[in-house]
Order: sequence, then structure tokens, then C-alpha cells
Amino acid sequence: MLTKVRISGGGRCNVTHAEFIPNQLSLNYPRGEKELLGPFHTFMTGDTMQWFEKKGIPLKIEEDGRIFPESNSSQTIINCFIKEAKRLKIEVLKQHPVKEIKNEKNNWVVSTENKTFSSKKLMIATGSNPKVWSLLKTLGHSIIPPVPSLFTFNINDSRIKDLPGVSTLASVSVLLKDGTTNLKSEGPLLITHWGLSGPAILKLSAWGAVDLFDVNYQFRIKVNWLKPETKESVFEILKELKHKYIKKSLHKNPQLELPKRLWQNLLVASKIYENQKWAETTHVQLKELASQLTQSIFHVQGKSTFKEEFVTAGGIDLKEINFKRYESKIHKGLFFAGEVLNIDAITGGFNFQNAWTGGFIAAKAIATND
Ligand SMILES: Cc1cc2nc3c(=O)[nH]c(=O)nc-3n(C[C@H](O)[C@H](O)[C@H](O)COP(=O)(O)OP(=O)(O)OC[C@H]3O[C@@H](n4cnc5c(N)ncnc54)[C@H](O)[C@@H]3O)c2cc1C
Repeated sequence: MLTKVRISGGGRCNVTHAEFIPNQLSLNYPRGEKELLGPFHTFMTGDTMQWFEKKGIPLKIEEDGRIFPESNSSQTIINCFIKEAKRLKIEVLKQHPVKEIKNEKNNWVVSTENKTFSSKKLMIATGSNPKVWSLLKTLGHSIIPPVPSLFTFNINDSRIKDLPGVSTLASVSVLLKDGTTNLKSEGPLLITHWGLSGPAILKLSAWGAVDLFDVNYQFRIKVNWLKPETKESVFEILKELKHKYIKKSLHKNPQLELPKRLWQNLLVASKIYENQKWAETTHVQLKELASQLTQSIFHVQGKSTFKEEFVTAGGIDLKEINFKRYESKIHKGLFFAGEVLNIDAITGGFNFQNAWTGGFIAAKAIATND
């Protein structure tokens, strides 16, 4: 029970994010941005914080905006839900996988392996379980095909080899086959044993979840290690450095606030040899270095799981949901929340916020007598 909460946020459970303006918050959802705007006016991040704090769970906001329990343990959140369920006398049945959902004479009939249940209203919050999506298809709902989101990029390239753990601010864009791009992001970029990760990459994996799946995770990216500088502006800076540091070795004196080993690898890629001094650099070498610093092209060949958080893009088509109640427009009395819907977010606590918002609004609607 609450398995995902347990493993979430590297075992610390990133419950929500310190973004308190609804239309700013909704920008973090590649799927669901438009639909969540209304619901966020009813229940969002501040309400989540208040809810937990009222239950005696102090939270803390980290520098990057992620919010965790002060205890740094997801067990605190699990205990809180279990205690709350007990207080409200909610019966929790484990090992009861739902096999069938039918609507009989305005009643929802749900069958598990061992029992059949019946009720006027039914709430489905089964996450990304494909079996439940199949059941929902038989009830007439459309399912947007699921694809993974929040992953890191596999890259085998000498420029980032042997640099795991090096992190820097950069901007990254995905290059489509014709060289154009509409997928761009910027932020911390982390070099790993397998390629590139960090917020800049995870954002691209979320916004490009469907497009990158379609190309089987084989594509090129362009990295600007010195955003907002351009190739031209960096070339001018390099010419100035050449005059300033005439007799100094490029390899031994990293410039432009780049991590030393990354700077050295980019020098090698620009064919600037190890003991070369600034005075000995040619126009062509400096042009190439400016290009490496602002337009490094990398070939991505596959993806890896980001262990702290991942999510599935896809699910029930949002056109079929009334977001004032999180109720099906096809079947009265059928409610949904969380990842079962075609909603997902970038990393940072936004995915849980989607689940809390939907859960709160659906529960209110279920509790009203209409
Ligand atoms: C490793 C990892 C770390 C994460 N960390 C974070 C984080 O820190 N912050 C964040 O915002 N998001 C995080 N996420 C994403 C977040 O966990 C999900 O978005 C969220 O759990 C979705 O909630 P849900 O209720 O929709 O689905 P789930 O949490 O997946 O819950 C679905 C429930 O339905 C039950 N169920 C499924 N099928 C059936 C069936 N047929 N019959 C009966 N029961 C069924 C399951 O057993 C489960 O209890 C993380 C995800 C992963 C995988």
C-alpha cells in the first residue's frame, strides 16, 4: 500500500512544489496544463501544505522549490494517510485487484478476485495500470497511448566521458531531423556515467515524451554551455582572452566559469593540444572552441530511468472529463484522479500535486448528493 509514496523523491517524498500562482503552476504540466488551471483555483500547492501541516506534518521548502516533510522520510506521509483513513473509518482492502467494472441499472459493480462491490458512485485512481485502462476502454473511454516520461539521455561521447557528477548551467535543445527545434530547456545539466541528466534534461524528457518515443530515443541535442552567450559573442571573448593570457596554457587555466575537466575536454574536441598557449591558437581553433562552447552537438542513443521520480504520459483523454468534479462526461457517477488521466508533469512535486488536487475535488463532488 502507498508503494509509490514510499519510494518517491528518493525515499523523502517530494509532496508538492513552492509555486503558488495557478497559471504559473499549470505551466509545469506538458499534459494537463489547460485543464488543471480551474482545479488549481480550488485546491493547489498552498492547500496541500496546509492540509499536511494541520495533520501535524511539518514541511520544508528546499532551494529549488521542492517541498518535503521535515522528517525527510516518506514514511511520515504514509503514516499520516493511514492514521487519517483509520480516523474516518475507511476500510482498506489489500490484495483485491479489480478485474471487472460494470454499470448495472445506474449502479457501479466492481469485481475483484474474491468479492463483488456495488455503489452509486465510483472513484478510479489506479495510476498507470494498463489493465484498468483496458477496462475503461470497454466502458467507452478513450485512452491516449501511454509512454514513459522523466528519463535521462544516454550519450556515449568523449567530451563528457569520465566526468560523472559534473554539473553546470546550460541550455539544451533537441534537434529534429531537419535541424529545426521546438523542444528547448535550460537549467542545471548533470553529466552522469551514461550521458546527461539534471533538470534541463528531465524537462525535455517530459515535454518531448511522445516525440522522443516516436523516434525510439535516437536523436541529436545541441548544448550551449554558456547560455546566454552565442557562438559570435564567445568568439569575441576568446580573442580577448588570447591577448590577455598570451603565454598561459589553455588546458591549465579554465575560463568562462566552466568546470575544469569539461573545459579541457572541449579544448580537445576543438583540436587544441595539451600544452598549447593562448598565443599559439589559430583563428580556426578559436572558432571551433566557440562552437563547442555554445553549440555542442551530441547524439542521444536511448534513455535511462531517473530513479528519483518517473511517470507515465498518456491515459484517459481529458476531453472526456468534467474538471469541475473530476467526473466522466460519458458516465455519471464515475470519477478519476491522478495518473490514470492523461496528465503528467516535470519533476519537482507536481505529479503528486495533480493527484492531491484531483483527489480533493472528486471527493467533494462524491460527497455532495447529486
Ligand atoms: C520512483 C518514483 C518516484 C516518484 N517520486 C515523486 C515525487 O517525489 N513527487 C511527485 O510529485 N511525484 C513522484 N512520483 C510520481 C507519483 O508517484 C505519481 O504521479 C503518483 O503516485 C500518482 O498517483 P496515483 O494515485 O494516480 O497512482 P499510484 O500512486 O500509482 O497509485 C495507484 C494505486 O492503484 C492501485 N491499483 C492499480 N491497479 C489496480 C487494480 N486493478 N485493482 C486494485 N487496485 C489497483 C495500486 O496498487 C496503487 O495503490 C514518483 C514516481 C516514481 C515511480
